[in-house]
Amino acid sequence: MKIELRNISHTYDVEVLTNLNLSLKNHSSVAIIGVSGSGKSTLIRLMSGLEKPSSGQIKINDYDVNDEDYRKKIGFVFQNHNLFPHLTLKQNITLVLEKTRGMEKELANETALKYLSLLHLEDQVNKLPKNVSGGQAQRASIARALSVNPDIIFLDEPTSSLDPILTHEVLAAVEELKGLGKDFIFVTHVMSFVRDFADYVIYMDQGKIIEQGPPSILDDPKHESLREFMKKVR
Ligand code: ADP
Ligand code: MG
Repeated sequence: MKIELRNISHTYDVEVLTNLNLSLKNHSSVAIIGVSGSGKSTLIRLMSGLEKPSSGQIKINDYDVNDEDYRKKIGFVFQNHNLFPHLTLKQNITLVLEKTRGMEKELANETALKYLSLLHLEDQVNKLPKNVSGGQAQRASIARALSVNPDIIFLDEPTSSLDPILTHEVLAAVEELKGLGKDFIFVTHVMSFVRDFADYVIYMDQGKIIEQGPPSILDDPKHESLREFMKKVR
């Protein structure tokens, strides 16, 4: 995918992103890392078009990210699974397909089962979110994001509410998606996953991009700030 950030700043009560510039081509799996509060979620929301930057321009795959057409090309997986609690895993997906994509009931059903199976949930399709594990619910929300056949999947700390075993289970399932030809932009604190899955890493601190490059930057940081961060997460 192609990512262009030009002079991106974003202010809530105070400025949380300061003049970000980035130009990436031919990367398919981009990790955003940094301490809590460094602006990762804000940046990923801006890149997915969920929010507009206070100033600057973001283009992804040559789309302005606030373009309606772009919104149809992306899927977003949130920190907590965000599934509708009163619908089964399958209904969570068919609802989206029928309502937002105008898909026929039968095809929506087939599509939902296909993606739930891809995430190894074929035995859980008729359960409510509260009756499956946190890892299964999170995998269902990944299946839901995939079901609309997006080009890019955004994941914002998809395992932050999970224990280490479920974290591994979810991240292993994401790694299996590599062959689908999708692009990924994700935030995580799991550095082993960054090393295995990312082909580019962006390190943020205090609303700025401090260091960027291939995952090997984690082993030999140029900046003291990334060096300190790596001591905390390793
Ligand atoms: P991260 O994901 O790296 O933890 P965030 O992007 O969530 O960082 O937050 C960056 C800064 O912006 C933090 O200081 C946070 O408190 C602030 N912030 C995030 N979202 C909002 C919001 N909706 N309103 C006000 N402040 C916010
Ligand atoms: Mg965050």
